[in-house]
Amino acid sequence: MLDAIRTRVLGGERIDRAQAAWLFEHGTDEQLIELAQSVRGRYHPPSRATWLKMAIINYTNVCVARCDYCAFYRFPGEPDTYLLSTEQVCDKIDALKSHGGTLVGFNGGFHPDLGVEHYTALFQAVRARYPDVEFYEMTVAEFMFVAKRQSLPYDEAAAMFAACGTRWITGGGAEVLDDAFRLRHSPGKYKVEDFYDAQRALLAAGIGSTATMVIGFDETLDERMNHLERLRDFQDSVDGRLPSFLCWTYKPYNTELAGEEVPLTEYLRWLAICRIYLDNIEHIRTSVLTRNEDAMIGLVYGADDFDLPTEDEVTQKAGATISHEFELILESARKLGFDPQMRQPLRPC
Ligand code: SF4
Repeated sequence: MLDAIRTRVLGGERIDRAQAAWLFEHGTDEQLIELAQSVRGRYHPPSRATWLKMAIINYTNVCVARCDYCAFYRFPGEPDTYLLSTEQVCDKIDALKSHGGTLVGFNGGFHPDLGVEHYTALFQAVRARYPDVEFYEMTVAEFMFVAKRQSLPYDEAAAMFAACGTRWITGGGAEVLDDAFRLRHSPGKYKVEDFYDAQRALLAAGIGSTATMVIGFDETLDERMNHLERLRDFQDSVDGRLPSFLCWTYKPYNTELAGEEVPLTEYLRWLAICRIYLDNIEHIRTSVLTRNEDAMIGLVYGADDFDLPTEDEVTQKAGATISHEFELILESARKLGFDPQMRQPLRPC
């Protein structure tokens, strides 16, 4: 099996899901690194790595979805719920800018009282006030909820956001895109087909999007492969318009699901499989948010890009720690032979 896989990858061809699963289970780390670096090399020089500083602004923790892996949400009416005002959001953007940050990712819950107009007003206000900052205005999962709440078809809702200037609604809230997984842990969120219908509508409206994945719940390898296979097919079908894929690891603390954290070695090996299998995605991103400076080893396993996060309540509630010792993280990348360069936020394809 290994010879067939090597021949394909080093020859610039695709491997299938059975080969990817075999490689994850049986390949050595050295073999995974060689093949991941080969695919990485189709897009990026070997020592090149890029980064930017960003804040994830959690504008509300109110959510009706009740995912059992989430330590962040509060059901409506609970005592410690919040919804940030525009001024409170701007205070957080100012804090990001004081760190030299250039990107904000908004991420909240499925708030039953917030419609399209609430979001477009907030985003228009912050875009006007901070023209030098890029905004990932919500995740596909939040977009789906907002559209459904108003009984809007996805193409209509996407057109409303686009008309108000939205540039990005990113592929967050994906976790493991497998319907059996979703039924076990997040039955109120969406079905996989629905997720891709929404993402397709966003791209058709001229809004940029990205791909994400979270591992380390109780998902099977088959469920993980379903996620990758569907994503690669989708990316083919939209002519490669998703510029990046970010994989991070579940933090199990304070959640109903609980469990244990995925070991670093497993995360790195999975990153390599993602780089090798997702040969139609240019940027594979490693997660400082959940692995801190260990995420730099992800560059060896095929990643080429990363965020330096300044805040995110969702992962911190579940046990992540955010460090502002950015130079230490960059130095870790240099020690591994990379030349990490700050980049500007991408513009949608
Ligand atoms: S993961 Fe997102 S959708 Fe699920 S409960 Fe948490 S905030 Fe809500």
